[in-house]
Formats: sequence, C-alpha cells, structure tokens
Amino acid sequence: MQKIKMPVPLVEMDGDEMTRIIWDMIKQDLLLPYIELNTEYYDLGLPYRDETDDKVTYDAANAIKKYGVGVKCATITPNAQRVEEYGLKEMYKSPNGTIRALLDGTVFRAPIVVDGISPSVKTWKKPITIARHAYGDVYRNTEYRVPANTKFEMLFTAQDGTETKLPVFDYEGGGVAQGMYNTDKSIGSFARSCFNYALDTKQDLWFATKDTISKIYDHTFKDIFQEIYDAEYKERFEALGIEYFYTLIDDAVARVIRSEGGYIWACKNYDGDVMSDMVATAFGSLAMMTSVLVSPDGNYEYEAAHGTVTRHYYRHQAGEETSTNSMATIFAWSGALKKRGEMDKNEALVKFADALERASIRTIEEGVMTKDLALLWEKGEKTVVNTHDFIREIAKRLDRELEEVL
Ligand code: NAD
Repeated sequence: MQKIKMPVPLVEMDGDEMTRIIWDMIKQDLLLPYIELNTEYYDLGLPYRDETDDKVTYDAANAIKKYGVGVKCATITPNAQRVEEYGLKEMYKSPNGTIRALLDGTVFRAPIVVDGISPSVKTWKKPITIARHAYGDVYRNTEYRVPANTKFEMLFTAQDGTETKLPVFDYEGGGVAQGMYNTDKSIGSFARSCFNYALDTKQDLWFATKDTISKIYDHTFKDIFQEIYDAEYKERFEALGIEYFYTLIDDAVARVIRSEGGYIWACKNYDGDVMSDMVATAFGSLAMMTSVLVSPDGNYEYEAAHGTVTRHYYRHQAGEETSTNSMATIFAWSGALKKRGEMDKNEALVKFADALERASIRTIEEGVMTKDLALLWEKGEKTVVNTHDFIREIAKRLDRELEEVL
C-alpha cells in the first residue's frame, strides 16, 4: 500500500509519563506505516518546558493558530512535589490553560461508546458531548467572610467616574459574600464555538442556564446565544436539519437523563465542571473520553481527557508490565488527522482516520481490552492485554479495515 500523503502539517505536542510512552507506540504502529506523517513537533514534556522556560508551550499554541489543527499528549501540570521531582526552575502554569488562553477556545468532551460497555444510564445509546465555558463566573470570583453588623453593597465606577451603587444585604450575624463576572465577548466566543462545533459534527445543540432566577446574569447568556444563533447560524442549522434548543438547567438535567444521547450540551463554567464528570463516569471510564478545544476563529486542538497516568508510568519505569488504555489518545490523533483531511480536502486521510477509529472500537468489541475496561465488560469472553499488545491488536484490525476502504 502506498503511504497517504499529507501536504499540510498539523501541530504535534508531545507530553509526559505513560502517555508519552503510548504516544510513540501509536506513531510507530498505527500512523507511520500508513501515512507520510507531516507534523510540526513541539516537545511539551516537562523537562523541555523547563529548559525553554515554558516558551515551547506558547510556540505550540501559536503554531496551532498558523496551521489550524493540533494534537496534544497529556502533560504534567507541576505542583510542589513535581518541582522537586523534576528539579524545575519554577512551578509552570498548566499547558492546557496557557493554550486555552491564547486560542480563546471552548473544550468539548465526548465519550467513545463501544458495544459491550453500557452507560450507567440505561437510555443513553449515543455519546453526549459536554461543552464547558471555561472562563469567569465562580472560577474568577472575589470572596469575603463577612463580619456581623456589616452592609454589603456593589459599586461600579465607569471610566468617566459615574458611580452605580447596588445594595446587596445587611448582615446582622456573620456570613459570606462573593462577586463574580463574565463578559459579552467571552460569552459570544463560547456561543460561536458551540454553534460551529454543532455544524461540524451535525449534532443538535442544547444550552441551559438558570435565567428564571438570575434574571440579568444568566439571562444575558441566554440572550447572547439567541442573538448570535438568529443572526449567524439559524439558516445553516435548518439546512442541516439540526436544532438549537434552550431550556432551564433543571429541565435540561431531567431531559438528559431520559434522552438517548447524540447531542452537544453547552454548560456554563460551573455546570460544565460538574456535568462533564457526571457524564464521563456514567459512560464508563475516563480513559474513553476525548477532548477537543475549538476556538471561535476555527482552530482545533485534540487530546485525551485524562492525565499522564502517573501510577502506570512508575510501574513501567520499574520494569513491570502495564495495561494502560490508549483509546482516548488514539482518538485524539484520529480527530486531528480527520480535521486536517477535511480542511485540505484530503479524502484518503479522512478515510484513514475513520478506519483507525473503527479498528480501535472493533478491537474492544471483539473482547480484547486493557485492564480498566475488563471490569466494565458485559459480554462474557475477554482477553486482557498489556499496553503495547493492545495497540498491536488494533494495528492488525487496521490493516483489514484499510484493505476495504483504500
Ligand atoms: P490521570 O487521568 O492520569 O489518572 C486518574 C485515574 O484514572 C488514575 O487512577 C489512572 O490510573 C486512571 N486512568 C486515567 N487514564 C487512564 C488510562 N488511559 N488507562 C488506564 N487508567 C487510566 O490523572 P491524575 O492521576 O490526577 O494526574 C496525573 C498527572 O496528569 C498529573 O501530573 C496531572 O497534572 C496531569 N494531568 C494532565 C491532564 C492533561 O494534560 N490534559 C489532565 C489531567 C491531569
């Protein structure tokens, strides 16, 4: 078979620990034998971030802006223990946070669904994608432990000095208070990322807030979504036969639980934080969650939702066998290759990415899996394999898939 050509590069961001080991196996066994892989490589592994004073992370984010597509391996976000373990010059910020800030994106998380591992919620048949607005609200709040006999007021000062003062509460006994904010610009970017992703993946978009109680704050989210939808997206949604649907957050939760899945659920920052963990857990395993950052101007960064699987890495370093699940990292690669293919009208690359996903799912559905999934498997016979053998098993099936499509 002739290798698939890839004239335009995508941005490859290598990472840390067990996922770095998996990264190389995926490239060697599942990509390089089939594709003339064209990537601009950035090493986001902690030692090189330290060597470059984290400049490499900023360079990678800018490269994504240039090429439009990136794929990222999981990376360590250093804490005090990591600073000591790696002898770091400083406690660098989370690379994901840095990239997200530069691209101004929204993160979409979706489970990989396989036959034989059913979600805890019996009605769910298709994936539910959570879109979390990762800016502002309670994550950027100002809090105060209020002493007794205190008056709480909010004061806004405009540039020309005009003051607006709003009474909040008179405390007799002690209590708590917080101020939080969001911006029209960020809410608008969030809305556009969601609408674009819905068009891209041909799925309905649901959005929910508590606008009946929060008549200005949450209601503004609702209004901005609706205005942007009507002005910029309505026609394209109707042409594709997909729907934008707004409801109250409590109604959304009830509908989600009764639904079949197969849509995008856009959530405000806190709701998204909570709901993405609920959805991930109910679908089975963190190792089966994919994640993509979509910027409002159309840049895409794909990754696994899980971390660097440190526990397995220490075992691997001690020469012990591991059984780490590479599905989410494989799907990060297939997602990025597919997007590269779609952008460049490179049909062979799109077909390859689809075949890679089918081969990966088929491997599990034929009963071959890593240890984490063995506990969830419901279809009897199974073969539990180690990290590398799982990837080799996928490669065998990929050969067969590709014979059929290429
Ligand atoms: P983790 O996702 O690596 O592990 C959490 C738990 O899930 C562990 O019990 C692990 O064994 C299990 N698990 C996760 N992925 C698995 C897989 N593919 N196969 C089998 N089991 C899997 O998260 P953590 O332990 O909290 O963090 C480890 C490191 O990862 C930290 O240094 C953290 O900073 C980093 N991290 C990075 C990202 C990212 O880059 N996106 C996200 C989260 C954590």
